[in-house]
Amino acid sequence: MDTEKARLLELRKKIDELSYQYYTLDKPTVTDYEYDMMYRELENIEKAHPDWVTPDSPTQRVGSKISGGFEKYTHDRPMLSLGDVFSDDELREFDQRVRSDLGGESLEYVVELKIDGLAVNLIYEQGQFIRGVTRGDGVVGEDITNNVRTIRTIPLHIASDSPHIEIRGEVYMPITSFEALNQQRRDDELEPFANPRNAAAGSLRQLDPRITAQRKLAFFAYALGGNSGIEIKSQEELLQDLAQFHFQVNPEYRKFTDIEDVITFIHSWDDRRDSLPYATDGMVVKVNSFAQQARLGNTVKIPRWAIAYKFPPEQAKTKVLGISVSLGRTGVLTPAADLEPVHLAGTTVKRATLHNEDYIKEKDIRIGDTVVIQKAGEIIPEVVRSLPERRDGSETVFTMPTTCPACGSPVVRRDGEAAWRCTNPDCPAVIGEKIAHFVSRDAMNIDGLGDAIVQQLLAQGLIHDVADIYGLTKEELVDLEGFGEKSADNLLKAIETSKSVGLARVLFALGIRFVGAKAGRVLAESFGSVDALMKASTEDLTAIDDIGPRIADSIVAYFRDAKNQALIEKLRAHGVDMTAEKKTLINTTFDGEIVVLTGKLQMFSRKEAEQAVEARGGKCTSSVTKKTTLVVVGTDPGSKYEKAKKLGTPIISENEFKEWLER
Ligand code: NAD
Repeated sequence: MDTEKARLLELRKKIDELSYQYYTLDKPTVTDYEYDMMYRELENIEKAHPDWVTPDSPTQRVGSKISGGFEKYTHDRPMLSLGDVFSDDELREFDQRVRSDLGGESLEYVVELKIDGLAVNLIYEQGQFIRGVTRGDGVVGEDITNNVRTIRTIPLHIASDSPHIEIRGEVYMPITSFEALNQQRRDDELEPFANPRNAAAGSLRQLDPRITAQRKLAFFAYALGGNSGIEIKSQEELLQDLAQFHFQVNPEYRKFTDIEDVITFIHSWDDRRDSLPYATDGMVVKVNSFAQQARLGNTVKIPRWAIAYKFPPEQAKTKVLGISVSLGRTGVLTPAADLEPVHLAGTTVKRATLHNEDYIKEKDIRIGDTVVIQKAGEIIPEVVRSLPERRDGSETVFTMPTTCPACGSPVVRRDGEAAWRCTNPDCPAVIGEKIAHFVSRDAMNIDGLGDAIVQQLLAQGLIHDVADIYGLTKEELVDLEGFGEKSADNLLKAIETSKSVGLARVLFALGIRFVGAKAGRVLAESFGSVDALMKASTEDLTAIDDIGPRIADSIVAYFRDAKNQALIEKLRAHGVDMTAEKKTLINTTFDGEIVVLTGKLQMFSRKEAEQAVEARGGKCTSSVTKKTTLVVVGTDPGSKYEKAKKLGTPIISENEFKEWLER
């Protein structure tokens, strides 16, 4: 009894701490599954001892504490969470309970994808969007109206003259935006977000709406709140009406009468959900009829007429065969586990990152251990924990090498850093990585210079830095292993073409600390030439939007270094173009968007629409793919429209397009 009570108190403390990390800091430290299991354990103890339930228990509230900074707003009708189940049998139990509560009446279920984002409430008066509020603790949320306005798939007007309508749904970050954001964060040496949900939440709660606007959020509508005065009889009808109001409605919902069909449908997603352009963490099963929903009612926290089926986490168990250390272009030594190959979320995994020395020590990961790995927000899988109970005594503790594995120079760990670095500025591994970055697709885009070739060129002393690539001759190349006349010609052509990729890419390719692809573009557009940039002071740089003091200091330090100045001169001597057209954008409404126009537009010609997008930072392409971020539809749209619907790509009408141009 006492130990149970102690466990209860421990769980409450732990869950409060984890909720704080998840909701307020957007930085979870355990997986959702681990959290859910702890939460369940707490619920079970409280169920067995109802007198132990106190109002401050985490089981008694919906979601997050309000984080301060935004105005509070009390929802007309509480925004509830969802009960959850983790197995087919639990789903059958839910079905039985619902049927028995309805006295054996026949019923229908609507099954929707559970989008891994965060719930918001949108308020429209006389058809005008007037307020956007987070779910918060379910009763009181945060007024994030200005940030919500930046989400392009949320209409600012809807065709309704109702004095007050509340539309609820999920704000989420599409996978492509999430990956781009994390890439940018890695380039800027910031910690990446753990998953799209945390990235969406962090982006929506920015105090500066301009930052939210850059984050490419999207919205799926799925519910009605408050007292709308609209006559709707079912969830299915509601989803259709929401689409009529020009909300994005997730197209994957289906209707069933038998729970076994629901289960089959849910499992049909087991292998497919990885290919969706957004993250899902489960499916939501809802009783279709609103009349039946009303009879089933709600608890203080969750509706009784709906349940979330949570997908199992994408984790796998495997063995650590060894730990190897590789070098990045900044000279940092990164340990990785070489694994017994294992299947995980659609791919075979052989390696997983261990981040740094402290991570290995904290998690006590040893060579020979059985470990749990997972794919989180990172594309590279990580080792979550080791399973010490599986040890047989043959495991060995890993120690970081004291010299660089590539060149044998000493390695150092600076105060306050977790990373060990090679001290040799000419370390071939570091130069190899710098060259790999220089030639990569988003940088100089030189095809045909793979790792093996670069290592041969370095070993033979044909290149010492990135500029030497431009001095390579056909005679030198054909002598290399694996090279013929044709591949040598192709490579030389690619090298020649790369000379004119322009300043933005050159700046990114140089690998200046904190200067990612985007900063490269901003700098090129603001300065127009490398010479102008080299003369810029920290103040000149920070005067530019998007360039903070850290990036500015790094740029100034880079160009002050005589070695780097010499490198720029060498690139120039080889004919690399280091100028850019100074572009003045009208604004950044479409920054980073990949837009497809389809159907007949009434107010613009195709060309005008394309120019309007480009003058606002976007790009127009001709076909809808997973990379497309927005589709503008005119009248009589064709297959592109269908494809966009299928992919769940945000779609807007010509009127909405015009509205955006006026923003
Ligand atoms: P939830 O995510 O389990 O489910 C409720 C939410 O689902 C709704 O509020 C809504 O936002 C969303 N949703 C998505 N698609 C929907 C649809 N089609 N219809 C209706 N709702 C839909 O509950 P929650 O209260 O938002 O969050 C709790 C969850 O957060 C936990 O189960 C846990 O997985 C996670 N969490 C994790 C940690 C951690 O440390 N890893 C900490 C706290 C919470």
